[in-house]
Amino acid sequence: MHTDKLRRFVSQSSDATLLTLAAILLSALPVFAETVPGSLPAQWNIGAEDCAASPQPPLQVHSYEPTTFILRQSPCADFEANFIYLLIGADKALLIDTGAVADSKAMPLAKTIMELLPDKDSRKLPLLVAHTHRHLDHRAGDPQFASLPSVEVVPFDLKGVRAFFGFNNWPDGIAHIDLGGRTVDVIPTPGHNETHVAFYDDRTGILFSGDFLMPARLLIDDAAAYRDSALRVIDFLKTRPLTHILGGHIELNQAGRTYRFGSHYHPNEHRLELARADLTALPAAFEHFNGFYARYPNYVLTNPIHNIVALASTVLLVLGVAAFGVYRLWRRRRSRSV
Ligand SMILES: [Zn+2]
Ligand SMILES: [Zn+2]
Repeated sequence: MHTDKLRRFVSQSSDATLLTLAAILLSALPVFAETVPGSLPAQWNIGAEDCAASPQPPLQVHSYEPTTFILRQSPCADFEANFIYLLIGADKALLIDTGAVADSKAMPLAKTIMELLPDKDSRKLPLLVAHTHRHLDHRAGDPQFASLPSVEVVPFDLKGVRAFFGFNNWPDGIAHIDLGGRTVDVIPTPGHNETHVAFYDDRTGILFSGDFLMPARLLIDDAAAYRDSALRVIDFLKTRPLTHILGGHIELNQAGRTYRFGSHYHPNEHRLELARADLTALPAAFEHFNGFYARYPNYVLTNPIHNIVALASTVLLVLGVAAFGVYRLWRRRRSRSV
């Protein structure tokens, strides 16, 4: 072959090789579908130092985008100040959690949700009410929905959750809720509570994480299950876009310090949204966990039962030492008086 021809051939083949290599590399990378963008407020309702002196609306309603609503219960209405989420599809809507307040006069949750629901065929869009887990602050509002037409409430006990979503091999497997042009995946995430699930919305790319992951105290019931849940969610999200992780509460300030338990006032509140890095750091956080308490920039790991047992043991030890001291003093006085 002529040298010029040979050079051209080599350069053409290397171009072709580069193109083939690029194609292989691109096909190996996860292809993230487009998600609908939305906005989050810089500041949520933070309650008040004196709630009686500064009355405020019980619910803050934020439209993330036209079919995704975030509702925050005022810290004055209940210190838990839950976040509740409404996702609207073409055929059905999904409400994630019903919050900490049962009384419809104090917390008009069902009324607010029904007003947000659009009509379809001259009636309200059907609504499915599901829970991240069975703790009362995530389902106290359920009775408000009980007698409403076209509303279905998912049971909150483990047997009911498994049966409703068709989990045959809990906590493995993923369930799907089809809202019409919008699918929400349900991922088992036990560890904080045995019934816990997280919801992934393919429209917005948001993971609704309940009490599994949030800027707050992550209360551990079963550390091994919690860690496995983190690994399960990380694996699930490997091939999916993730815009935000939105949980059930905010209990930290911007410096990462927890508010006093039961506080109705959250000055300088931490942002609600967490990111993929917070999730991917979770398994290692569990591996290094001392079993009692560990502080990270965006969450705190704590095992309330271990802490109560440790506190009770300390109190018993102090009482025991004090009783022994009193006994010795009594013995000494007695032997002197004899
Ligand atoms: Zn909980
Ligand atoms: Zn909670």
